[in-house]
Amino acid sequence: MTTAATQSALEYAVSRVADHFMFGIYFDLSRYLIAAGVLTALLLVFRGFAERRRIQQGRRASRADYMREILSSMRTVVVYAFVTLAILVGRETGVILLSIKDATLWTIIWQFALIVIAHDAWFYWAHRAMHSKRLFRATHLHHHKSRTPTPWTAYSFTMTEAVIEVAFVPVFLLITSQLGIAYAGYAILFFIWHQMIRNVMAHAGSELFPAGWVDNPWTSWISTTTHHDLHHSSGHNFGFYFTFWDRWMGTEHPRYREAFREVTTRRREPQPQPVPEPAE
Ligand SMILES: [Zn+2]
Ligand SMILES: [Zn+2]
Repeated sequence: MTTAATQSALEYAVSRVADHFMFGIYFDLSRYLIAAGVLTALLLVFRGFAERRRIQQGRRASRADYMREILSSMRTVVVYAFVTLAILVGRETGVILLSIKDATLWTIIWQFALIVIAHDAWFYWAHRAMHSKRLFRATHLHHHKSRTPTPWTAYSFTMTEAVIEVAFVPVFLLITSQLGIAYAGYAILFFIWHQMIRNVMAHAGSELFPAGWVDNPWTSWISTTTHHDLHHSSGHNFGFYFTFWDRWMGTEHPRYREAFREVTTRRREPQPQPVPEPAE
């Protein structure tokens, strides 16, 4: 290869890497802004419902909380963009098998379920490790500065925590690629959006799941907003999508179900009745 050809190949590679990185920034930033923004708007539109279902009644997130959450989330977006870049370069070099075309609906469904179950296990154990005395300050204290979570808490991590959280995706894809499983792009896309939506819902501050959720055996294994809110206000509940790791490991908050029932069965405040004018 001539020097000129090497130079242009190098330039091409650099521009591809830069394109992938910028794609990661746009993708992760818009994912965060859309999910947290839409939920914030819905909580404002349905203010009566949101207030009645407020989990921490005596406390509100301050303006400083919102600022800290949004600013540190920008750092998380940059970390995630680097990982998105690594995955895309891995796909181009054949280290990661990502087949976007020709996936059947069934393949997308089982691959989506597999990655969600695997991510839940990763989250639970990484989260518990970050709560250990040795790691808490350096990794996870920042996320817990939000005692009263808001949708914007979703990405509020230190850089170290952001790396630990996102490392799951390339590790999972490297393992499946080694096993010869080509992952469907749509399965990853649904996983990423589902993760983000559940993340902002977990930090909504108001319970979003219907009454009876924790008492129905078909739904009680899916965690609710109260589940993660209790983690922020008083510990316990290290799981993310599901409640089973906390149940198996005995880390579920002892009052989780009671707290959920209480918040979802509150009655509307009685409206003040107009005082009738005294008859003349
Ligand atoms: Zn935590
Ligand atoms: Zn949280």
